[in-house]
Amino acid sequence: MSRSESRAQAVFEITTGEPIAAAKPKSLEEIWASDVFTLVKMESALSKSAFRAMKKTMETGAALAPDVADDVAAAMKTWALSKGANYFAHVFYPLTGASAEKHDSFIVTDASGKAITEFSGSLLTKGEPDGSSFPNGGIRKTNAARGYTFWDPTSPAFILDTENGATLCIPSVFVSWTGEALDKKVPLMRSNAAMNAAGTKVLKLMGEQEVAPLNSSCGAEQEYFLVDSTFANLRPDLLLAGRTLFGAPPAKGQEFDDHYFGAIPERVQVYMEAVEETLYRLGIPAKTRHNEVAPGQFEIAPYFESANVAADHQQMLMTVLKNTARKHGFVCLLHEKPFAGINGSGKHVNWSVGNATQGNLLDPGATPYENLNFLLFCGAVIRGVHLYGPLLRAAIASAGNDHRLGANEAPPAILSVYLGGEIEAIFEQIKDGKLDGAGESGIMDLGLSQIIPFAKDSGDRNRTSPFAFTGNRFEFRAVGSQQSVSGPLIAMNTMLADSLNWIAEKLDAELTAGTDKPAAVVAVLKALMAEHGQVIFGGDGYSAEWHRMAVEERGLLNLPTTADALPYLKDESIKALFARTGVLSSVELESRYEVYAEVYILSIAVEARLAVDIAKTIIYPAAMRYLSDLADTSASVAGMGIELDATTAKTIAAESNAMMSAVARLAEAFRKEDFASTEEHMQYCAGVIRGLMDEVRLHADALEAEIADEQWPLPKYREMLFIK
Ligand code: ADP
Ligand code: MG
Repeated sequence: MSRSESRAQAVFEITTGEPIAAAKPKSLEEIWASDVFTLVKMESALSKSAFRAMKKTMETGAALAPDVADDVAAAMKTWALSKGANYFAHVFYPLTGASAEKHDSFIVTDASGKAITEFSGSLLTKGEPDGSSFPNGGIRKTNAARGYTFWDPTSPAFILDTENGATLCIPSVFVSWTGEALDKKVPLMRSNAAMNAAGTKVLKLMGEQEVAPLNSSCGAEQEYFLVDSTFANLRPDLLLAGRTLFGAPPAKGQEFDDHYFGAIPERVQVYMEAVEETLYRLGIPAKTRHNEVAPGQFEIAPYFESANVAADHQQMLMTVLKNTARKHGFVCLLHEKPFAGINGSGKHVNWSVGNATQGNLLDPGATPYENLNFLLFCGAVIRGVHLYGPLLRAAIASAGNDHRLGANEAPPAILSVYLGGEIEAIFEQIKDGKLDGAGESGIMDLGLSQIIPFAKDSGDRNRTSPFAFTGNRFEFRAVGSQQSVSGPLIAMNTMLADSLNWIAEKLDAELTAGTDKPAAVVAVLKALMAEHGQVIFGGDGYSAEWHRMAVEERGLLNLPTTADALPYLKDESIKALFARTGVLSSVELESRYEVYAEVYILSIAVEARLAVDIAKTIIYPAAMRYLSDLADTSASVAGMGIELDATTAKTIAAESNAMMSAVARLAEAFRKEDFASTEEHMQYCAGVIRGLMDEVRLHADALEAEIADEQWPLPKYREMLFIK
């Protein structure tokens, strides 16, 4: 069957096939966290003292004695075997942004050759995967490939069911044999500790007697596309790059906005329910689901959790989305921009900090101007985003996200803070050294007596801001859909820690000088606003005016591509920030830069090779076939004295030639290897390679518009987006 016949066959099969029937919904009680080794399960399985120790560690991060690990290991093994798991795996989070696991069996043989199961505290605590194939940015030579994983007792172990059986998964950190972090978990935990120390200092200065450990929280909204796998299998670009490198825009795109929050197609709903059931079993609190802006695009958002656990859960969620899709005949695309001209996918990272004694410190309460703790923590965020905007930008830099940021439908690549009317007004007052209640938001009155009245929110939502205050948390909206949330969380916690340390110092000086507390807070925040207030922006972040004003008047940086943003990881101020807070040593930071740069360069190289391959071997042949058909027809009707208009044939010939010329230049361009630096190489990818890919695409998409539909060899946008 030819490609174009396969395409027609795919449409037929998808539209006539029997969808997977919805499974009978199970009660939440029955399935909630059934595959997780929770504290509740530990309570009945562990000795009293071991349980108490585990609980304390999970709740406060307190150190755990090695003998407790023996107890936990024994109980974990019994539980895992009862769930049918014969294997255990340390799950860790290398710098690729993916999850990794190395499976080991519980089974050993005794002296008589009998198989018995074994799982000790030391096996639970420490693993030694062959780390040589994980990126390390030069920290380890391949001949010194040792890497260790260590159990993170604060993130619960769980059972993962796969086609190959069940495995006990143990969330772990991953470090080199010299002790450097090679993963995303170590710095996330360190950043949390740094934030806790700094925040505690501030709260104590504010006179809080009791201050429980502070923790950061994260609730991530995940956007994704679903494409029928029969179509996806006919698109090498979707399979290998996760996005379409070609495809003319469909006659109808998203301009009607009729997909956003529309009724979820039945087949998709069945899929979502299957995803949710798996997530519930894993103790992941999936909370909202809906259609997104683009056709074929959806969103899932779990309820927020502590950042460390949420990050592990987010990785699982992406895996579950992809694996479940396969079972339902879909491919789940997590790429930031699977379809040109159609909205891309992001991952809004909602983030806050709080503790058991003071609650959520980014919750302003009913009278924000009286909530001094809130104002200090909010001020700390403002300072952080202003000082470390480039770090935040670098933390979300990737080849995929470059298609989104600054592309007029996603947050701009300029980092600013949106506070909302009421809070912004308070900080404006603080600039003048004042602090008296700003305008109340009041009650919303719809003029309908049957609708229960409710208080107005203190601010709208600004969809054009990359970093927005949303009532009791900040929402980092510029994160890419396939990225790990850990990078952004590390950056946010660390910048917050630094700002809180700065605030503590200033506050201490004011209080020591005898200033009363409210006046001291205003004085510190006034100084902060004088230096950093220009990062606050409530207007339209997409507008050209903002792009000009941000850069020219406010001195903010516009870093449109990864090539522009990543080098900031090597900036002295960023190095100093991470060193000062103890989150990453300069060796660790540099290795990260190397890894991320390499991943960027490699992703673009893969795409470039694919573009050449598809243009040459799929699109060009289709164009030539159709051209030859036109020529044959023209010749045969000429015999009847009919002269056919040759415009189409000429256009096809011209576009084909132009495409192949661009293909030749692209193929030549990615052979270049002599770069003076990694930065130069990245800039070359962002500029030259991507530019040539766009050129190839332009002509290929023009061909799609000319060639007979029944001969077009790749599933079209309208099919992939609209046929489910
Ligand atoms: P929206 O689309 O309106 O921004 P959603 O309900 O889709 O909101 O997602 C909001 C996310 O923010 C959810 O994951 C929610 O749990 C999370 N969230 C709420 N409060 C906090 C908080 N204090 N810290 C972190 N995340 C939070
Ligand atoms: Mg949101």
